[in-house]
Amino acid sequence: MYMIGLLVGLLLVAILWVGCSDAEKQQPPSTMRPAVTAAVPRQADPARAKIEERLRKLASGPRPSDLAMGAMCYDMAIAFERVEFVCPECSEKTLYAQNEWHAHELSQCRRLVTQIPALDVSLDASQFCAKCNPSIDKPVLSLVVRYPDREQPCRTDGIKPLDLELLKLLLEGKDRYRDIQDRETALQDYLPRLHELLGIPPAKSSVRPK
Ligand SMILES: [Zn+2]
Repeated sequence: MYMIGLLVGLLLVAILWVGCSDAEKQQPPSTMRPAVTAAVPRQADPARAKIEERLRKLASGPRPSDLAMGAMCYDMAIAFERVEFVCPECSEKTLYAQNEWHAHELSQCRRLVTQIPALDVSLDASQFCAKCNPSIDKPVLSLVVRYPDREQPCRTDGIKPLDLELLKLLLEGKDRYRDIQDRETALQDYLPRLHELLGIPPAKSSVRPK
């Protein structure tokens, strides 16, 4: 039994060896090979390098010490608008009533995404189409970030207006986020979400010791 196993093994080695030497013979001599082979690394994206630098600075920089506490009381009246969604897939128009919060967020996000020109960002709102997704009660938005040197875009689901505000502030070099009650929060506190949205994992050195 052992001898049979050994023989089979030797036979396999022989076949593989013959296969290898055949492949070597078929290759052209080195002088005839094309100078550039397929696996040339793409050039690093300068825009992403800048964003990575911003993230590093934010993680290692001092925390703002003069953050505003905001108003104690604030009139929360928000003017809702009627939201119309035209599906890019089927061209069906879906209308959302003025009191639907998720639809209100859609219109906010659509406005905010146009304010991030430094990055190739787009929204995927396909869940908002009543024809394509009739069973979805509370549609969510997705953010798609593309980099010229990466084949796969970075996609994050469940996008809220705050996410886009954070991206905008980061790219503007700001160090804080101010909410509608004028309360300020250090942008540093949102670093995990920013890394997630951008598809850029935090550098090991930027993790703060607890
Ligand atoms: Zn549709």
